[in-house]
Amino acid sequence: MTVITDLGIAQIRDGFRNGRFSATEVASAFNAAVAGAGALNAVLVATPDHALAAADVADRERASGVFRPLSGVPIGMKDLFCTVGVPATAASHILEGFVPPYESTVSGKLWAAGAGMLGKLNMDQFAMGSSNETSAFGNVISPWKRNDGGNAALTPGGSSGGSSSAIAAHIVPAATGTDTGGSIRQPAAFTGICGIKPTYGRCSRFGIVAFASSLDQAGAMARDVRDCAILLEAMAGFDPKDSTSLDAPVPHWEAALSGNLKGKRIGIPKEYHAEGMPAEIEALWQQGIAWLKDAGAEIVNVSLPHTKYALPAYYVIAPAEASSNLARYDGVRYGLRDLPEGAGLQDMYAATRAAGFGAEVKRRIMLGTFVLSSGYYDAYYTQAMKVRTLIAQDFDKAWEQCDLLLTPTAPSAAFGLGEPQEDPLAMYLNDVFTVPASMAGLPAMSVPGGLSALGLPLGLQIIGKAFDEQGALNACLALEERAGFTARAEKWW
Ligand code: GLN
Repeated sequence: MTVITDLGIAQIRDGFRNGRFSATEVASAFNAAVAGAGALNAVLVATPDHALAAADVADRERASGVFRPLSGVPIGMKDLFCTVGVPATAASHILEGFVPPYESTVSGKLWAAGAGMLGKLNMDQFAMGSSNETSAFGNVISPWKRNDGGNAALTPGGSSGGSSSAIAAHIVPAATGTDTGGSIRQPAAFTGICGIKPTYGRCSRFGIVAFASSLDQAGAMARDVRDCAILLEAMAGFDPKDSTSLDAPVPHWEAALSGNLKGKRIGIPKEYHAEGMPAEIEALWQQGIAWLKDAGAEIVNVSLPHTKYALPAYYVIAPAEASSNLARYDGVRYGLRDLPEGAGLQDMYAATRAAGFGAEVKRRIMLGTFVLSSGYYDAYYTQAMKVRTLIAQDFDKAWEQCDLLLTPTAPSAAFGLGEPQEDPLAMYLNDVFTVPASMAGLPAMSVPGGLSALGLPLGLQIIGKAFDEQGALNACLALEERAGFTARAEKWW
C-alpha cells in the first residue's frame, strides 16, 4: 500500500498524472502529517488551505487534461520567503505581525508551476546560524536520534533546519531553503536528505528577507537528487526585480540527469583534510572517491590554497552586509515597534531593535558595523573582499584540472542541541566546507553518503563551476546510486 507521505516530488507528480490519487488526497495527507508533528517545531505557520486550494486547481485542471510541472505537489517554504497574506518572520520577533503584501519571485514561480504550500518553516533567525537554535520561536528538533540509547534531541542543522527536519520526517515531500554560507547543504547533510544551492543569481532574491545579499541564494531541498532537480527548475529564472539575477535560460536539469561520469574529472582539494576531522568523515570521503571512480570519473588532486581564509573572511563580509540589510528594522516600517512612554525617535529605534533581535543577530550587526566603520573598513572589510577574490581565483585554477570537486559537506554529524552553543566560533566551524563555494558564487550540492558510528547521516558535497548545476546534480546522482542511502529516522514525534 502506498503511504502518500512517503512519496517524493517525482512520485507524486507521476502518480497524480496517472490517476493513482488526486491532488486533494495528497495535500490532505501532508496537511495531517504537518498537524501531527508539532514536537519537531519545524513549522511556524501551517497553511493547509493554501495546499488544498492549489490541489483543487490541479484536480480540476487534470479533469481537462492540463498538467503543470508541479501539479499536485505540496511543499514547505522556509520562513525567509515572503508569500502574500501569510506571516513572514525570518524566525525573529522583530518581524512579528508582518504579513507580506507581495510574493517572492521564487514562491510565485512555484505556485505558477502548480505547487501548493503546506507551511512556513522554522529556521535560524535571519538565517544566521548552523543549528536552528537562534530561532526566536524555539529550535527545530531533528527526527534523528543517536543509536547509543541516548535520547538527546539533535539539531537538524541550520539555518534551513525546519526544511531539513520536515523533509526527513516525511511531513513535506520537499522544501525551499536558502544558503548564504551553507544553510541548505549542512542541514541536508545532518538529516540524510539532498540540498542544492545553485549558482549565485539563478534564483531571484526578490521577496526573500535579506541576510548577506552578495551571498544569499535560494535552493531546493528534497529526499533525492531528481526531486531537487525538479524543484530547482521551477524556482530558477531571470527576474528583472533582482539586479543580480542571472539573465540566462533555465536548463532542463531533470531531463539531463545521468549518473554516468565518463569523461568527468573530479578534483579532491587537499586543504579540505581539516585538522581534527573525525575519521569517519575522512572514510566517507574516501568512499565517495571510490564511488565516483566506479561511475567513470577520473580523480585528480587539486589545491585550493586560500581555503583556510574563507571562514574568517565570510564572517567579516556576511555580518557587514547583514548590518546594512538589517538597518531597515527600526520600528517604523515592519513588524515590531517598541515605543516607551515619552520616547523620541532614536529611543524607539533602540528599544525596538533591543527587544526584537536575538543575541546572534545583534552580535553580527555589531561585528558588521565595526568592520564597516571608518578607520577599520580597509583593515577588515577591504581585506576580506580581497580574500574573497583569491578564493574565487583558487576555484578558477582548479577548473583547469577538473570539472567538479568532491568534499565532505560538514566536519561532523549532527550534534546535540545546546552542545557547541556556548562558543559562537565553534558553531562557525560548521561552515568550513560550505563557505568557500558561497564566497565564489558556485553551485554546490549535498547528498547523503552513509551513517556515522552513532547512526547519524553524513553528507558528501559536490561543487561545480558557475552555471554547472547539471554537473553537480549528475555527480550527486552517481553518489546516490552507489550509496543506496535508505536509512530513515524512526518516528517518535
Ligand atoms: N551558518 C552560516 C551562518 O551562520 C551560514 C548561514 C546561511 O547559510 N544562511 O552565517
